Amino acid sequence: MREGFWWAAARVRPYLSLLPDLATRRFPRHLAVLLALVLAMVASQPLLQTGVDLGGDGVSTQATPQEETVLPAPPTPAPIATPQLEPSQLREIGAAPSKEQQSAVQTNQPRAPIKYRVEEGDTVNAIAVKFGLDADSVIASNDIDDPNALGIGEELLIPPVSGLLHRVYDGDVLNELALIYGVTPEAVVEYNGIKDANTLQIGDLLVIPGGKVQMARANSTSRGGRSASAPARATGSFRWPASGTITQYFGEAGHSGLDVAAGMGSPIYAADAGVVIAAHKLGYGYGWYLMVDHENGYRSLYAHLSAFYVDYGERVSKGETIGAMGSTGLSTGPHLHFEVYSSGALVNPLKYLP
Ligand SMILES: [Zn+2]
Repeated sequence: MREGFWWAAARVRPYLSLLPDLATRRFPRHLAVLLALVLAMVASQPLLQTGVDLGGDGVSTQATPQEETVLPAPPTPAPIATPQLEPSQLREIGAAPSKEQQSAVQTNQPRAPIKYRVEEGDTVNAIAVKFGLDADSVIASNDIDDPNALGIGEELLIPPVSGLLHRVYDGDVLNELALIYGVTPEAVVEYNGIKDANTLQIGDLLVIPGGKVQMARANSTSRGGRSASAPARATGSFRWPASGTITQYFGEAGHSGLDVAAGMGSPIYAADAGVVIAAHKLGYGYGWYLMVDHENGYRSLYAHLSAFYVDYGERVSKGETIGAMGSTGLSTGPHLHFEVYSSGALVNPLKYLP
């Protein structure tokens, strides 16, 4: 080691003369000496370790076996820096608070639904808590039949706010969706940035803030009762849903239905057989209203009721008394506001009544 060092120092010294400024004038002499020593150290390393011939002056510089025995221990390798992961990688491997978790902090800014893969030990409740939601929001957004039977690896869609997600299917109408989920059309338009409410794109995933699906839906198929064994099927023709006086026609000043007025509590009949797909008690607009899906492309809606005689998810037969006339919601006196939808589009009820 020693011999190699001084030999190398001797070899390096001539090069310093090529740097007069460094070695003398501008550079402090002691630094120049230090530099020379460092260079000598560096130059001596390859000699000692490899014993190669540097060439140039024709002198062989083969290291002797003796020198090899005094080789210094190899320098401790510098610790390899832990690679810094990009935020995107962190999200993928879940090592840091994910975007999903961060978004659980509720803000008023509209946000997109989130995809979540079910992990071992997950429950609907735990997932809901993770995203700051109630369990119903997760269940309704994914049509989960059995919340206790989540499959590991199963992909769930998580709404960014309490409410639910709705995949637009052929025939969906915004007003109708809003009715079914008990929200205002404006809230859906605003949150989803819908430009034209009349042209929902089939397959689009809508966020329905505050939307709720009544849990009766899950039981509607297994429900017992009078009509379960012989479900009433729609006849394809409507009967009058109430007797009384027509007080406003469809299309008058943008009116979306037909108003029939009679006494408070007068019976409201199902215009045809079908399934009750909405039974909401709103304090505004339609007030207490029922919607019946006739399962033949038609749906009918009965608004401003004072009582319901059927439940959500229940099958009704044509002419069955489903509610009582009232004046709930936006109404100035007892009347029925009756709407008919054909393939999701509002139509004039009078065209379908006898
Ligand atoms: Zn009306």
